[in-house]
Amino acid sequence: MIPDDKFIQSKDVPGPTKEEIRCLVMCKAGISPGDTVVDVGCGSGGLTLEAACRARKVIALDKNPEAINLTRKNLEKHGYQENVLLREGDALNILEELESFQVLLVGGSSGDLSSIVTKGWSKLAPNGKIVVTSILMETRVEAVDVLKKLGTEPDVVEATIAKGKITPRGTMMMGRNPITIISAVKVN
Ligand code: SAH
Repeated sequence: MIPDDKFIQSKDVPGPTKEEIRCLVMCKAGISPGDTVVDVGCGSGGLTLEAACRARKVIALDKNPEAINLTRKNLEKHGYQENVLLREGDALNILEELESFQVLLVGGSSGDLSSIVTKGWSKLAPNGKIVVTSILMETRVEAVDVLKKLGTEPDVVEATIAKGKITPRGTMMMGRNPITIISAVKVN
């Protein structure tokens, strides 16, 4: 895993997803070396970079051009740009154009989560995996509902991480926002 402070960050772009959460997302995504991974809402590139060093190919997309630029900078900084295709635009339009892929990561949706998950699911190869990370209560529920409608039983994990801050008096645990990771495997 790449430490959080090794990412170039911007106040205008969310992310990177914190290291411990990236760990869980990668665990659920179970990327194999031959896989194509699609990262919807690449933000600062937190998940894109982790996928890039595990997969054959990554397609990272974001509707925010600044997110695309920042992800590119982070890829270059870490030397991972070779197998990553960056696409600026709306997730639904881009997903529509893509051929099938093995792993879909969804980190942003702007109110379109059900459509993005449904479209992405239709393009997932057999045994393909989808992993949605959600910080809003509403999107957690939406992700679970849409995956159930697609005929699968999602795995739902809520992670609340506390990190130790070393102070002169001792190690103080600092809580971070809870984040929910909803994942499913397309069996057929
Ligand atoms: N996983 C990223 C952070 C994602 S933040 C990281 O680790 O760095 C969510 C991103 O989703 C934002 O950059 C936002 O612009 C993008 N986004 C939200 N809705 C989108 C949509 N419908 N199409 C494309 N990108 C979208």
